[in-house]
Amino acid sequence: HPLARDGAVAVIGLGRFGGSLATELAAYGVDVIGIDIDEAVVAQYSDKLAFVSRTDATDETVLRQVGIEEVSRVVIAIGNDVEAGILVASKVLKIGNQHIWAKAVSQTHADILGQLGIDNVIRPENDMGRRTAHLIRGHMSDFM
Ligand code: ATP
Repeated sequence: HPLARDGAVAVIGLGRFGGSLATELAAYGVDVIGIDIDEAVVAQYSDKLAFVSRTDATDETVLRQVGIEEVSRVVIAIGNDVEAGILVASKVLKIGNQHIWAKAVSQTHADILGQLGIDNVIRPENDMGRRTAHLIRGHMSDFM
């Protein structure tokens, strides 16, 4: 794969979370391989990312064809379809990428991803809630 080198990042699922993550990485010059099952979503990112692919990421064969095994960083950003997210995580773990980040939408989802061996589980709403609390505390200290 022409783009598959150490600096590339694969983002699987280009919803609000995966899409903004992929766009931000690309804006910093990172080679992003964007993967989504939805053709319209893929079309939306075709001129923003280094490479896009309309792929069902639960299919290990197709994941390998896209060159996922040569990418050392993979983000799994599938939330609503918890089953798909867990399946994709197990396939990516099997392929053996070194660093995997995965988004979870519930504690159960996060627990399962952790049990599978995903080290970096992201809970966007929970994480952002904590961060916003810090922002508000900073705002309060400006006036105290
Ligand atoms: P966000 O909140 O970030 O928008 P979401 O949880 O509302 O995400 P999801 O249902 O998690 O949305 O889907 C995120 C993206 O993942 C969608 O664009 C969807 O098409 C894609 N997706 C879902 N299943 C698969 C799959 N099996 N393979 C590849 N992409 C998938």
